[in-house]
Amino acid sequence: MSQFSEYKDLIQAGDLALAWISRDNIKPVRITPGATFNTRYGSFPHDDMIGKPFGSQIAVRTRGSNKFGFIHVLQPTPELWTLSLPHRTQIVYTPDSSYIMQRLQCSPHSRVIEAGTGSGSFTHAFARSAGFVFSYEFHEVRYGQAKQEFEDHGLLRDGNLAITHRDVCQDGFAIGKNDTTTFFENLQSDDGVSPAKIDANVVFLDLPAPWTAIPHLEEVISQDSKVSVCCFSPCIEQVDKTVEMLEKHGWVDIEMVEIQGKQYESRRQMVRHLDHALQRLRDVRERKQIGLERRKRMFNKLISDQEEPYEERPETPKTEYNPFGKGSRVKEGDTGFKWKEVSKVESEIKSHTSYLTFASKIVEKTRDETLVTKITDQERE
Ligand code: SAM
Repeated sequence: MSQFSEYKDLIQAGDLALAWISRDNIKPVRITPGATFNTRYGSFPHDDMIGKPFGSQIAVRTRGSNKFGFIHVLQPTPELWTLSLPHRTQIVYTPDSSYIMQRLQCSPHSRVIEAGTGSGSFTHAFARSAGFVFSYEFHEVRYGQAKQEFEDHGLLRDGNLAITHRDVCQDGFAIGKNDTTTFFENLQSDDGVSPAKIDANVVFLDLPAPWTAIPHLEEVISQDSKVSVCCFSPCIEQVDKTVEMLEKHGWVDIEMVEIQGKQYESRRQMVRHLDHALQRLRDVRERKQIGLERRKRMFNKLISDQEEPYEERPETPKTEYNPFGKGSRVKEGDTGFKWKEVSKVESEIKSHTSYLTFASKIVEKTRDETLVTKITDQERE
């Protein structure tokens, strides 16, 4: 079972853990007795992590000072992996992958085709939710790296994932015995010779030219259930060509979506009343009047040759804090004032802004009368 889909309480030797150093610095660590995890904030012995619950904070004293450096040791999840994985390509981030999976209704009943594998970011998310995932990558080095990583994460051998080294635009998706794939190594087809039964009902294409792969889907998609596809493309010209090809091959419900992820930061804002604003305007007017009169008196004294024309500036009496005027700083949430909850948009969020083109297809449209009777009978009962 993969650590990415199974929760465990305690950190054990041999586990993969993700060390949260800061919000944008998360590093994978294979827990090894006697080893040390070095960071600029200090060196953390793996032995200090073993036996602690996932999520624990591990602290070490910084050399030559009284301060402590600390990290949090987290359970791996596809979301955290996306933030920590070694990038070999552009990747799909969680704001996109989560939306895509719910639009494709990805569930344990899904048999997913994903091309290309790239850095394996989306593959981890698919593998956690789907029944089986067939991932394809044509770049040999990247294929090897992804295969090794999936193996290390327990997704291949006992898992629900197969990766195939293939140019899907040229050679399609069907997997035969002689293909370079993990499929026949671990999951033999019934006779060990026939092509793998793919029967996909979910397809995700993150390729430079998805329209050239679309015609090849015919031979591998499910014939008796609804199939949903999503193509991930950064340019509108790519969307154009994809839509044309989808229409040509009988895909329907074609829709293009763009995700613009935003993060909202919530905080409190002081409740201000109109009375306060009016009071503030009165104060300003009054002080202006006092100032004018003072200056007029000083001028008169000056022209009548009086010795000391200068007059001290009158002190403004301290009044109740007026949030519209200048005054002492009030700490957010001060119980002496009224506050309301507000939110502010944070612009920094990792979501690759590509266009998502969705479509669906039902190959076999004849009604299964036995199934319809069964369902209607059940509803009548
Ligand atoms: N979705 C991936 C992720 O989240 O990590 C990133 C995919 S990356 C942008 C695109 C990948 O598709 C690259 O690794 C590239 O080598 C691969 N690719 C491009 N054309 C291909 C083709 N015709 N067949 C198979 N893989 C292909």
